Amino acid sequence: MKIKHIAPHIYKIEAWVGLKISTWLVKTEFGSILIDSGMGFMTGATIKLAKAYGPLQMILLTHGHIDHTGGLASLLKKERVPVYAHELEIPYMEGDLAYPGRRKPQRLVDKGVVKPLPKDREGQLHSMMGLIPYYTPGHSPGHTVYYHPEDQLLLCGDLFTSKNGRLKPPIKAFTADMAEAVESGKIVEELSPAAASVCHGGEVPDPGRQYKKYKATFGSLRAAVNGSKER
Ligand SMILES: [Zn+2]
Repeated sequence: MKIKHIAPHIYKIEAWVGLKISTWLVKTEFGSILIDSGMGFMTGATIKLAKAYGPLQMILLTHGHIDHTGGLASLLKKERVPVYAHELEIPYMEGDLAYPGRRKPQRLVDKGVVKPLPKDREGQLHSMMGLIPYYTPGHSPGHTVYYHPEDQLLLCGDLFTSKNGRLKPPIKAFTADMAEAVESGKIVEELSPAAASVCHGGEVPDPGRQYKKYKATFGSLRAAVNGSKER
């Protein structure tokens, strides 16, 4: 496991299981926020890091896939904190619905553990202790990214992967709707963050400038789980 200081308030916790899996710890004036839980074997190092920056306040999830939620149960045994995800993702992670393209539903978290991200009257997702959630469906039905305005860093989960500082599409075999995922990627053009950080890859500087080319290159890519062949 590796801990990288990627922005003034943000640490990236990286593990390797044949591919890179990452989570993020964000420092706030009240304590720390964890973005995604990673797998169970990452829990000890995650709690140690969180404790160095004040009490863990909450866990925010980008989506429910096991490499993002597998460590949740062991984390919550040690730290009783609220956990949030987009309301549209919760039935999939609780096993009420099968993820698109999957034959069977899978219970990835216990019922009632994950609460829906709060919204205002207009349906806008609330800022969570300074982190702003943005709904970015496609990789999964309720996929959400989190923006840190002060550090200008976008925590992307599986909205993208990356290679050598370039945006790449999410992993095909685990992506519900690739065309929608590529479209949701326009958030980097809209926010124009200094960098994007992805779960399965390194950081991408100035991702907004790459988006047009990314969309032109990958906009017609089909996800394997849709059953349609790639053109
Ligand atoms: Zn995923």
